[in-house]
This record gives sequence, C-alpha cells and structure tokens, in this order.
Amino acid sequence: MNPQLRTMFLAIELGLALITTGAAHAQLPPPGSITLSVDATHVPQRILHAKLDIPVRPGPLTLYYPKWMPADHSPDGPIPNVAGLKFSAGGKEIAWVQDDVDMYAFNLDVPPGVNSIQASLEFLISAPGPTIDFAASGSAKLFILMWNQVILYPKGWPAAKLNFQPSLTVPAGWKFNTSLPVASQSGDTITFSPVPLDLLVDSPVQSGEFVRVYPLNPGGKPPHEVDVASDDAWALDISPALIDNYKQLVAEADALYQSHHYRDYHFLLTLSDNVLPLGQEHHESSDDRVAERTLVDPSARLLESGLFPHEFSHSWNGQYRRPSGLATPDFQAPMKGELLWVYEGLTEYLGTVLSARSGLTTPQQTRDYIALTASTMAHRAGRRWRSLQNTANAAQILYFSPPEWASYRRSVDFYPESVLIWLNVDTTIRKLTNNRRSMDDFCRAFYGPPDGEPVIKTYEFDDVVAALNQIAAYDWRSFLRERLDSTEASAPLGGISGGGWKLVYGDDANEFLAAGDAVSGGGDYTSSIGLKVKGDGTVVDSTPGMPAFESGVSPYLRIIAVNGRAFSVDELNRAIANSRSSAGAIVITATNTGAIETHEIRYQGGNRYPHLERVDGTADYLDDILKPLTPARSH
Ligand SMILES: [Zn+2]
Repeated sequence: MNPQLRTMFLAIELGLALITTGAAHAQLPPPGSITLSVDATHVPQRILHAKLDIPVRPGPLTLYYPKWMPADHSPDGPIPNVAGLKFSAGGKEIAWVQDDVDMYAFNLDVPPGVNSIQASLEFLISAPGPTIDFAASGSAKLFILMWNQVILYPKGWPAAKLNFQPSLTVPAGWKFNTSLPVASQSGDTITFSPVPLDLLVDSPVQSGEFVRVYPLNPGGKPPHEVDVASDDAWALDISPALIDNYKQLVAEADALYQSHHYRDYHFLLTLSDNVLPLGQEHHESSDDRVAERTLVDPSARLLESGLFPHEFSHSWNGQYRRPSGLATPDFQAPMKGELLWVYEGLTEYLGTVLSARSGLTTPQQTRDYIALTASTMAHRAGRRWRSLQNTANAAQILYFSPPEWASYRRSVDFYPESVLIWLNVDTTIRKLTNNRRSMDDFCRAFYGPPDGEPVIKTYEFDDVVAALNQIAAYDWRSFLRERLDSTEASAPLGGISGGGWKLVYGDDANEFLAAGDAVSGGGDYTSSIGLKVKGDGTVVDSTPGMPAFESGVSPYLRIIAVNGRAFSVDELNRAIANSRSSAGAIVITATNTGAIETHEIRYQGGNRYPHLERVDGTADYLDDILKPLTPARSH
C-alpha cells in the first residue's frame, strides 16, 4: 500500500511534480493543512464520525473519497458505507453533487470570501460477509481505523503534497497502537503529528478494550513489535515459543534484506471473528486480521503461518520498491497490475522462505505447502486460455471473483504460481553459480541499503531483468516471459526439480491441505477427481477435464449422497480412497437448483495428496534455501 513520509516521497521518487488531473489547480501551491478529527466513541454502535476542516478557494471545488487502495490494487474504496455527508462554511450549509460518472468525486461551489470549509461524514461499520468488505473493520470491543474510510481530499495535488493534521477519540479506556507518530494525548483523544495524506492512509490505527504489546527486539533499532487486539482478553496470550518465531522472523528479514525502510515496525494483529479477515501491507506496519482462535488451533495457525512473513516482506517488496504502474500519485489514478507477479508473487515466495527460516513452518510443512501450490496450479483448467500474466493484469476483477469456477476462470494466481517461478529463478541462480549466489543476493541488491524513512523507489520489468543479471548472467527476459505468457496446460515445476525434488501424489496427508479441510470443514479433491466441496456438500469447484466434471458435476450443485449413503466429507473421502479396489464408479446424488441428479464419476486412482519427493543424486538446493541465515533462538 502506499506510502510515505514527509513530502520527499512520491513527488521526488516518482519524479511526478504534478498529477495529470486538475492541471489548473496544480499550478497553485498546495492548500494548508487539512484538519481531520475522527470520533470513534460509537464504534460499538458501528458508526465512525469524522469532521474535516479543508482550506479552499472560492469557486468550483472537487473533493475525492479514496478510490484505488494501494494494498488492494483495486478501485474498491468502501464508499457505499459513507453516510451523513454535509458541508458548510461559517455555519452556512453548502450544497454538494456527487459526480454522475465518478462515484468517488463530490462537486461543490465554494462561495465568495470563503477560505475554508467544514465537512462532516459518518462511516458505517459492517460485519464480515461472504464478499470482501473493507467496511467490516470494527466490533463491540475493537476497531482498526483505516483512515481512507473517513477522508476527503481536494483534487489537484499528489497525496504526498497534501498535509493532514489528524486526531482520534477512542471509546473510554480503549488502548491503541499505530506506526503514526503521536504529538499529544489528552484523555481518550490522541493528536497525531502532521502527516502527508499518502503516509496517513498507509498508517492504520488498531484500538480496543483488550490490547497487548509484545516487543520483538527490546532496545534494538528500529523497534519491532506485535500489537495484539481481540474481542476477549483470553486471546491476547501468545506463547513464548511463537514470540520466539516472530523474533527470529525479524532477525531473518534483517539478514535477508540487510536494510529497513521504516522508523519502527508494528505487526497490528487482530484476533477477531467480527472483522474482515485480511493481511494488508504498509510501510511501517501491517494490518493482520485472523479468526480469534487462530493461534490456539493448530490447523488455523499453520494456514496463517505465512501471514507475518508475507506482510513484513512487503515493507521492502511493494512499499520501498514498487512497480511504477502501482505507484500512483493519488488514490484516483488507475493502477496497472502487470508486475503483481513481483509485488505479490515474489513476496509470496520470500514469505514462504522466511516462514521456514524463522521456524514458523518446518521444512516438511514448507515442502507440503510448495507441493500443494504446485498441484493446485497444475490442475488449473483455465491455464489453457488465461496466462499468468493476464491474472496480474486482471487483478482488479479477479480479487473479487468468487471461489466457484476458480480452476477454469483462474483467480489471483500470480500469488501461488509465482512461488513456483521464483523458486525456479532461485535454483537457476544457484545452479549457474555453483550455489555461491541466490535470491538472497538479489534481495540485498534490489531491496537493500541504505536504511531510511519510508520512500518509494519504482521499477519496471527491465529493472528486474537487469538486477537478476547482476547476480547471475542469463537470458532472464525469455525465462520469465515464457513462464508468464504461457497458455500451456503444464505448470512451471522447474524450480522443484531444480531444487532436487519432484512432485508426487499418494496416500499420505498433505499437512496444508489437511489443515485447510479441517478449518473449512470441506474437502479438497483437486488432484484426484477434480472437486472441492463445502462441509454441507455444496460444490465449490469442479475442474473441466477431471473425472467429476466429466461426469456432469459443476459448481453450485449440492451433493446429498455418495454411493447411496448420505453425504459427509468422510463418506466422500472413503469413496475416493476405496476407488482403487472398487470396480464401479463413484455414484453421486446431488440437487441442482431443486432437481435431483445422479452422476457416475469414473475414477479409480485412490487418494492423490501432493508431496515433494527427493531425487537422489541431485543437489538439494531447496534445503539450502529453507535454512536460517541466523542462529535459531529459544526462549
Ligand atoms: Zn501481499
């Protein structure tokens, strides 16, 4: 997400003195500080109140509500939840009109003699639903203030040039955590230091009744901490062993990047079933929200093991270094997702590596994760028509596509499939250099020193190719383009074989797949009959070309019986496991929009859980990649 500090940041780093819209305004100096007061005392009633004092000039004025959210790579600012919008000057109301094309623009006519207007608005906090809803950010006991929810800003200047003077009143006695510097506090009202708009939106505030802070490098510079908030006090206890893993993560990231581009770093961890689950990256913090029981449920904890490593890595890859198409000057200019296979994809790879190096996953679990990723991508029916590059270009629609038909539609596959591609890059560098160089060297070169405050340094595809060539000379352009532009049926598995392993399928459970099924209550049979179901039998996905689909099973059917017995995930597990020794088909009875159907799935392959198997006589580069760079710690 966006960024940065003081005014140096966007305007200088991007070389953008002006934004393209509002050229007439852009000739003028930026207005003075915009005062923003947020009253969060009614969060339990699901309402935020905000007041803004905006310096203006008489005449036509356009104010924007943030639309393109940097960490979302999408035009999804939660404007449907804005209410109570009013403007006035000197106590007299000023009429407003929402632009009839751009729903994020409000047009006003500022009366003569007026040099500042007051805006007031409410933000309605929703509850998590089946779709992504960034308005689901608070509960009776906590909230995460995403400043973009309560902000309007004048058209015509880059966000880095617009200064805000923010303050926040929290419910009585609630604590708060944020990377935003605090100027003063009086009772429950916090006044923050003046901050440019881009850095303000990049700096969420976590607040709640139940909050605890875990320092990760006491006395070290810069400070790192985990800030935990939850709906109940019991969830705040994090085991010393897990805190040690997080400490190791900080040390491993330091060893990998040998730099930091933040003044301090806050993992804002919210354990709650009442807010949208997400991981959202920022320069100096991450907004990490998971279910309340995540840290005490082994399956849920394993599934979320990569969350901190991923979001933390974004401080370097995504925040400090950002594709120019994603480094827009304000929240209004459209973004281009073409390099999301670096921004998100390489972050996913480095997050996987850092999870292993910090002990958050064992080497075996990490191999299972890579195997499951490879198997899932190898069974994407949609790879014959949609390239991985296109999934990045189309990110702004694919983020919001449902899980049904994910195999044939494809999803935001630039996350998982890029793990395979960057593993392929890493093992290729190691092979070319006799294991003397690796992606670790790339990270130091591309994301490394000098240390500093948050800034953005943009890059293009050619810069990635050039940086790789500095590590090991090779035709990286062709290497990457072949994998990104392919519409072949096969997934890029060269990193697994280059690492000394191969993808195999068998009866032994894959730990990540089993954890996913345990948490969801459903069943993932992607690599056997090509089916994913929910716990109630509703089909989430059915892969064209695989046995279930070829028998007529499609997403949205609900399976009610398997081989004549009432449906349960266990029953379907048994039918698949027994298919090797049974002569007949697996008979599925299902309801299809009210009609009862029977489908005979012709399959005799038994369980096909994905694993990595060592290839004897080859260099085990994967083992080298997953080894810690620093000594392991114990509490
Ligand atoms: Zn990410």
